[in-house]
Amino acid sequence: MAERSYDFLMPSVNFFGPGVISKIGDRAKMLGMKKPVIVTDKFLEGMKDGAVEQTLDSLKAAGVDYVVYNNVEPNPKIRNIKEVKKLYEESGADSIITVGGGSAHDTGKGAGIILTNGDDITKLAGIETLDKALPPLIAVNTTAGTGSELTRHAVITNEETHLKFVVVSWRNIPLVSFNDPTLMLDVPKGLTAATGMDAFVQSVEPYVSVDHNPITDSQCIEAIKLIETSLREAVANGHNLEARTKMVEAEMLAGMAFNNANLGYVHAMAHQLGGQYDAPHGVCCALLLPYVEEYNIIACPERFAELAKIMGENTDGLSTRDAAELSIKAMKQLSEDVGIPHSIKEIGAKPEDFELMAENALKDGNAFSNPRKGTKEDIIKIFQAAYDAK
Ligand code: NAD
Repeated sequence: MAERSYDFLMPSVNFFGPGVISKIGDRAKMLGMKKPVIVTDKFLEGMKDGAVEQTLDSLKAAGVDYVVYNNVEPNPKIRNIKEVKKLYEESGADSIITVGGGSAHDTGKGAGIILTNGDDITKLAGIETLDKALPPLIAVNTTAGTGSELTRHAVITNEETHLKFVVVSWRNIPLVSFNDPTLMLDVPKGLTAATGMDAFVQSVEPYVSVDHNPITDSQCIEAIKLIETSLREAVANGHNLEARTKMVEAEMLAGMAFNNANLGYVHAMAHQLGGQYDAPHGVCCALLLPYVEEYNIIACPERFAELAKIMGENTDGLSTRDAAELSIKAMKQLSEDVGIPHSIKEIGAKPEDFELMAENALKDGNAFSNPRKGTKEDIIKIFQAAYDAK
């Protein structure tokens, strides 16, 4: 067996299951939080008996004061994290609770980063760049999902350059995560599909990453099986609690896997689409996935052949290459079944942007663990294939 050593990162406490949200007040108190900033958006704040209302009720019951920031934007911008920092300082807050999907968690992490590590977050893009701990952070997750409630990644968009960048550090991992599937029952179909496909891509990329190990492999395999047997059901009937529960388990497993085995070109390229066109992250990932992985097959055909089997394809009697190709077919079928569009054209992508986006994708923190090392021209061709897709 090849020699290997790695740090294995896990969040410290994770509450999972229907109803766990009621425990947040006591947990915040136990952590010594006196006045957290609740980082969320107006839609979630206004939801009757939704995640924000239940969080605030539990904090009130525990006697914990709070202040609310309700201006999180999708693909969160530098202006959002600066606004949270300002509110934190002006209100005398001492901690952060994020309530929402990846955008809320990344806004909270981004604000925490600039509160303690210096004002210019663009200088902190990259891997393990943070010297100081963030303020205490709890993440209440409402999508399944990005895994951001338990990862070391903070993904922020520079609204001036339209560049989406990642700050990757163990210091970003929330102290506590809450994953209560009852908070996800009303996620609309399109968002369920997009976030579910994000979790799927986050199970495939670490499985074929150069940094994978037996622990992350087992997490990816189980996550893929759970998604295969629950994402279609969750899209078909959002109130199917069993399907929602399995999707939450899958997204947590995927988050733990990519915290440690990292991602690849799908995410590196999806960040360019998200930054340039402000397109939903999960859709960007799903649209790119089959074209990136088709390109990656020659780097590790056996792993793609395994993926086909994990996704329930019959590979008996096939060559490794043919079995590997079946995994690409299964990925496209999953996307099709849950109603993801076919081409990046449909989210506004323009071929004249591909060259710059390819250059920037190769600099993205997620590019380094991709199993095949590509050139700018390779990445342009992948963007073009995802654009020409019918
Ligand atoms: P999101 O957080 O952007 O939310 C999308 C929309 O869904 C919002 O309008 C929100 O109000 C709504 N919403 C959220 N929960 C809901 C609920 N329970 N019911 C109804 N509506 C709800 O979406 P996302 O896909 O979770 O996050 C995407 C962001 O996360 C992107 O910026 C992406 O780059 C980032 N991301 C981060 C990581 C990480 O590890 N930090 C990983 C992957 C992606």
